[in-house]
Amino acid sequence: MHWNKDEIYKNYDYLQKLYNQANKPLIKTQIWNDLCTMSVIKTQYEPNSKIDESLVKIEERQNNHLSILKENFGDLIIQLNEYSQVRFGNKRPKNVDIVDYNQLLLDFFNNYQPNLIDVYNNLVKNQKIELSVSKSFEEKEPAACFYNVTLNDLYIYARFNDKIFSSQYLPHEMGHAYQAFMFPSMMEVSKKRYSLFIEVYSTYVELLFINYLKNIGYEKQATFLEKKYWQIFATTSECHLNFLFNEDMFLNGVMLQYIISMLLSNVFYEDYLKTNNHDMINTFNKEYLNATDSEIFNEYGFKRLLQSPGNAYKRILEKQH
Ligand SMILES: [Zn+2]
Repeated sequence: MHWNKDEIYKNYDYLQKLYNQANKPLIKTQIWNDLCTMSVIKTQYEPNSKIDESLVKIEERQNNHLSILKENFGDLIIQLNEYSQVRFGNKRPKNVDIVDYNQLLLDFFNNYQPNLIDVYNNLVKNQKIELSVSKSFEEKEPAACFYNVTLNDLYIYARFNDKIFSSQYLPHEMGHAYQAFMFPSMMEVSKKRYSLFIEVYSTYVELLFINYLKNIGYEKQATFLEKKYWQIFATTSECHLNFLFNEDMFLNGVMLQYIISMLLSNVFYEDYLKTNNHDMINTFNKEYLNATDSEIFNEYGFKRLLQSPGNAYKRILEKQH
């Protein structure tokens, strides 16, 4: 599964032309951001090309994470720090070949999230998914969903080397893609870019996928992926602590998004395990379209959930055993 290289270059040139013609500063900035995204995508074919730093600096940096954090998460920081000290046993089971990844995904969607099938098939048909072990992306995220506001379009990259231990990335990105298409336009999607809950649905789909692997004979591998998942959570929490001291808003704001989203998606995932339906996440997805982060915090009583004894956080700690 690969992107359409010609289309990517064509889109890049088109955006450049639009950029040169645009007069209004706001529109110009938007196109500039989209050009930046396209140039990141292009590094798939030009691994050595450098992305203009100034492009990245233009990014809006939203500061309200810090205020939400200070209001809600004083004690949580201490808890997260303790959690980050916890170490998992790391016997890595055998990495197994996947013969037909496409079929595996379709079966997974069929069994767990049929509403993803159409989105997935469309992205495959339109060559919007790149599955490879790319040098240019290697050191960055293992996977990403790139939104393009001007073109009202998206591209997915997922690291995949035909083995089970890279199979969880694409399902995660499919969660982002599905959510993006729930919005009326990519413009609306981009407004949610700094939401603390942006990773909730994608993480939920990833957890479901790992659960699916368990049920089709990859029990050991799935358990390892689960541990890795919580380990990332722990590492992320450490980064998050640094955030308090460095206040590098952009980088660590992203870290905070992961922590908060992972906690909430875990709540929904556990509800799914109990009820065998997706009612809770479906309700959340609908609310996510319009609600602000503060409203979501209030809705799910998140602060209480985390800070009272016998809470979600405790359950997370128990998960490692
Ligand atoms: Zn994500």
